[in-house]
Amino acid sequence: CFITFEGGEGAGKSTQIGRLKNRLIQLDQPVLVTREPGGSPYAEEIRAFILGGRAKHLGPFAEALLFAAARIDHLDTTIVPALESGTHVLCDRFADSTRAYQGSVGNIDTTLIDQLEKVTLRGVKPDLTFILDLPAEVGIARAGARQAGKGEGADRFEEEDITFHQSLRQAYLAIARAEPKRCVVIDADREPDAVETAIWAAVRDRLPQ
Ligand code: C5P
Repeated sequence: CFITFEGGEGAGKSTQIGRLKNRLIQLDQPVLVTREPGGSPYAEEIRAFILGGRAKHLGPFAEALLFAAARIDHLDTTIVPALESGTHVLCDRFADSTRAYQGSVGNIDTTLIDQLEKVTLRGVKPDLTFILDLPAEVGIARAGARQAGKGEGADRFEEEDITFHQSLRQAYLAIARAEPKRCVVIDADREPDAVETAIWAAVRDRLPQ
């Protein structure tokens, strides 16, 4: 299965990816954890460029193209080979992040995002996408505590205000409404154990028996 995790800052994606990975390993299922932007050597270089704050000088569309370039390499060298070898892939952010951040919040036209997604993904789609949903204030408080001890992305994050995070949340919920089969919205404003249980219930349903 190709499973992606989406959500705003502080939603708990990495914690939950780690927990799902452990559950799959306990069942002797091969699993690979990866992330975007990044997930392959060249895509990680693009990540450093974008999150270092330099890409924003190029404008939102050029930035979206950089995310797409990173995604092509990530798919070709990491995701597709793993899926072809029968390994589950758990990915921290994927194409829906582009739709939410660059599309809805960055105001790039949906038609352009659709076209870009088509040429980038070339038919590879997640089997399941978890949208970790929580109120903007809660995410900001959680991410703020975390950013204090972490350099990467901090510049980007500090620029954004509450309206940005509220729009982002609405953008993700709209994606979930548009693709209800693929997307499962998870209430992430709960203890990690409760979130893990909800995620596991959805994954178990989809694993081959
Ligand atoms: O998930 P993580 O916190 O590592 O994501 C890094 C940052 O990259 C996010 O906080 C977000 O601001 C940004 N991002 C973006 N557009 C994407 C993916 C990530 O702006 N398509």
